[in-house]
Amino acid sequence: MAWDFETEPEFEEQLVWMREFVKTEIFPIETLRLPYSDVVTFIKPLQEQVKARGLWAAHLPPEMGGMGFGQVRLGLMHEILGQSPYGPVVFGNNAPDSGNAELLAAGMEMTGRHDIRERWMQPLLDGKIRSGFSMTEPHTAGSDPRLLQTRAVKDGDEWVISGRKWYTTNGSVADILIVMAVTNPDVHPYQGSSMFVVPVNTPGLTILRDVGSMDDPEVHYGRFGNHAEILYEDVRVPADHLIGPEGAGFALAQARLGPGRIHHCMRWLGQSQRAFDMMCERALSRFTHGSLLSEKQTVQNWIADSMAEMHAARLMTLHAAWKMDQVGASASRVEIAMIKYYGATVLHNVVDRALQTYGSLGYSSDMPLESMYRAARAARIYDGPDEVHKQTVARHALKNYQPSEIPTDHIPTRSVAAREKFADMLEFLEAERA
Ligand SMILES: Cc1cc2nc3c(=O)[nH]c(=O)nc-3n(C[C@H](O)[C@H](O)[C@H](O)COP(=O)(O)OP(=O)(O)OC[C@H]3O[C@@H](n4cnc5c(N)ncnc54)[C@H](O)[C@@H]3O)c2cc1C
Repeated sequence: MAWDFETEPEFEEQLVWMREFVKTEIFPIETLRLPYSDVVTFIKPLQEQVKARGLWAAHLPPEMGGMGFGQVRLGLMHEILGQSPYGPVVFGNNAPDSGNAELLAAGMEMTGRHDIRERWMQPLLDGKIRSGFSMTEPHTAGSDPRLLQTRAVKDGDEWVISGRKWYTTNGSVADILIVMAVTNPDVHPYQGSSMFVVPVNTPGLTILRDVGSMDDPEVHYGRFGNHAEILYEDVRVPADHLIGPEGAGFALAQARLGPGRIHHCMRWLGQSQRAFDMMCERALSRFTHGSLLSEKQTVQNWIADSMAEMHAARLMTLHAAWKMDQVGASASRVEIAMIKYYGATVLHNVVDRALQTYGSLGYSSDMPLESMYRAARAARIYDGPDEVHKQTVARHALKNYQPSEIPTDHIPTRSVAAREKFADMLEFLEAERA
């Protein structure tokens, strides 16, 4: 019987190296508060070390320049990298570039078009270009992409794209955008959308602004990690900028989002653990009202609840990763949906408790907790809001049940049935007692 929670020793060695590397080489860079263009200078030599260690862009299959790790090993890796916002960049798998590279890889697999690799995928992998993923629109519900209004119409050898998008992360610093648009409004929306590579300098494409958000309330245009609002006005791209077959937009999105959600959840666990470590350290250090915080039952409850929730989220996420390795993303849909909302809530709660343990210091930017809290809040919205994933899980669960006018467990009804079933025995006992 296979029931194994161990990591192979060779990979555990890599994880040990990553833990130390992230802590000693990446954590310190966070405190310098440099613009991203300067951060790049610091991380270049670190990226070389990662490449030499065979851990670069590990999310891609070997034929695409990755390591073919599978989701469980990738998950374990992301748990470590996710502790720092720079971790994924140093390891060549930061969003949205990593997801976009996966999209391009999936498109290549569907069509056998190898030109995609040298035109866009390799430059993305080498960090020579940056990308954004342009799906959400300001005037339609992002939680239901069947409502997309952006259209792409074929005109000779070109596609003409028109629409307005927002929240395209890194849109204002990207070289290419992957745009999802409706190509056939007459079929079911799941078959009627497609994805295109659009270089940002294409005529008709206007980056209207970076949207102010909890990430950057003051809005510094062109800041790495910002979210752009983009207008596409009759933007013409050659026909070969279509990724995958026409109509495969949703299939591609699924291919991108399944593994992406596992990686997000494992990164969130890395962040939760970091917040938890801070909470425990503070609880043991701060004295008030006659005792250390660690001796107050409320704080003990926070620690105990956080530990149990993180453990549960970790097991759920690794199980989803394992299932995905066994049967693929589509058959693991429910497990992936569960970890998305459960993992985001655990992250949010653990960071919130840690912040509360630190009081005003936690709220200040002298600690990383305030920015972790803002990031945790976003996790409940992006990649599909929690409520949508809960709906998926509830619908799946409900398929196993039938309506019943009298509840199946109604005790008086069951008692009548039980009396019939055991009539002889009950009669015998009654006679004995008489
Ligand atoms: C930090 C961040 C980064 C992002 N990056 C990108 C990106 O790079 N590219 C991109 O295309 N998009 C991006 N997005 C957008 C994101 O994908 C959408 O915000 C998300 O899909 C939700 O869409 P919406 O904001 O339009 O909310 P809506 O669809 O308007 O939903 C609003 C709320 O309604 C509720 N709701 C929705 N559906 C249901 C339901 N079925 N049952 C019950 N309640 C429901 C939820 O509470 C939800 O939060 C990003 C968002 C954030 C916050």
